[in-house]
Amino acid sequence: MAAPSLATEGISSGASLYNLSMTYWIHVAHSIDRVTLHRDRCSEVPSTQTSTDYWGGGWYDYPDKERALAAMEQAGPTDQRRCPLCKP
Ligand SMILES: [Zn+2]
Repeated sequence: MAAPSLATEGISSGASLYNLSMTYWIHVAHSIDRVTLHRDRCSEVPSTQTSTDYWGGGWYDYPDKERALAAMEQAGPTDQRRCPLCKP
Protein backbone atom coordinates (compact mmCIF):
# COMPACT_ATOMS: atom_id res chain seq x y z
CA MET A 1 0.00 0.00 0.00
CA ALA A 2 2.75 2.44 0.88
CA ALA A 3 5.39 3.72 -1.54
CA PRO A 4 8.63 2.52 0.05
CA SER A 5 10.89 3.52 -2.83
CA LEU A 6 9.89 7.18 -2.60
CA ALA A 7 10.13 7.21 1.18
CA THR A 8 13.58 5.64 1.14
CA GLU A 9 14.90 8.12 -1.38
CA GLY A 10 13.70 11.05 0.67
CA ILE A 11 15.35 9.75 3.82
CA SER A 12 18.69 8.88 2.24
CA SER A 13 19.17 12.20 0.45
CA GLY A 14 18.29 14.06 3.63
CA ALA A 15 20.70 11.98 5.68
CA SER A 16 23.61 12.65 3.36
CA LEU A 17 23.05 16.40 3.70
CA TYR A 18 23.10 16.07 7.48
CA ASN A 19 26.30 14.06 7.30
CA LEU A 20 28.03 16.95 5.58
CA SER A 21 27.06 19.49 8.20
CA MET A 22 26.98 17.48 11.43
CA THR A 23 30.35 15.99 12.20
CA TYR A 24 31.88 15.35 15.57
CA TRP A 25 35.53 14.78 16.32
CA ILE A 26 37.23 12.99 19.14
CA HIS A 27 40.80 13.65 20.17
CA VAL A 28 42.40 10.61 21.74
CA ALA A 29 45.51 11.24 23.84
CA HIS A 30 46.69 8.03 25.47
CA SER A 31 49.76 9.69 26.96
CA ILE A 32 47.53 11.72 29.31
CA ASP A 33 44.72 9.15 29.45
CA ARG A 34 42.19 11.56 28.00
CA VAL A 35 39.70 11.66 25.15
CA THR A 36 37.92 14.90 24.22
CA LEU A 37 34.79 15.42 22.14
CA HIS A 38 34.66 18.34 19.68
CA ARG A 39 32.27 19.75 17.15
CA ASP A 40 33.12 20.01 13.49
CA ARG A 41 34.02 23.70 13.45
CA CYS A 42 35.97 23.89 16.67
CA SER A 43 39.20 25.89 16.35
CA GLU A 44 41.09 23.05 18.00
CA VAL A 45 40.22 20.57 15.27
CA PRO A 46 43.12 20.48 12.78
CA SER A 47 42.15 21.57 9.28
CA THR A 48 44.46 19.02 7.74
CA GLN A 49 44.70 15.47 8.98
CA THR A 50 47.94 15.14 10.89
CA SER A 51 49.72 11.89 11.39
CA THR A 52 48.26 9.81 14.19
CA ASP A 53 50.39 8.16 16.78
CA TYR A 54 49.18 6.18 19.75
CA TRP A 55 50.76 8.19 22.56
CA GLY A 56 50.73 11.63 20.98
CA GLY A 57 47.08 11.26 20.14
CA GLY A 58 44.90 11.21 17.09
CA TRP A 59 41.83 12.90 15.65
CA TYR A 60 38.90 10.83 14.46
CA ASP A 61 35.70 12.12 12.87
CA TYR A 62 32.22 10.67 13.18
CA PRO A 63 29.02 11.56 11.33
CA ASP A 64 26.93 11.88 14.49
CA LYS A 65 27.25 12.37 18.21
CA GLU A 66 26.02 8.89 19.10
CA ARG A 67 28.88 7.25 17.23
CA ALA A 68 31.42 9.73 18.58
CA LEU A 69 30.35 8.97 22.15
CA ALA A 70 30.52 5.23 21.50
CA ALA A 71 34.00 5.66 20.04
CA MET A 72 35.06 7.58 23.14
CA GLU A 73 33.97 4.64 25.28
CA GLN A 74 35.96 2.24 23.15
CA ALA A 75 39.05 4.43 22.84
CA GLY A 76 40.28 3.48 26.29
CA PRO A 77 41.14 6.65 28.25
CA THR A 78 39.28 7.00 31.55
CA ASP A 79 39.15 10.80 31.36
CA GLN A 80 36.33 11.53 28.92
CA ARG A 81 35.47 15.16 28.53
CA ARG A 82 33.77 17.63 26.23
CA CYS A 83 35.58 20.56 24.75
CA PRO A 84 35.00 23.78 26.76
CA LEU A 85 35.36 25.87 23.59
CA CYS A 86 32.81 24.33 21.25
CA LYS A 87 30.62 22.66 23.91
CA PRO A 88 29.57 19.64 21.83
ZN1 LIG B 1 36.34 21.86 20.64
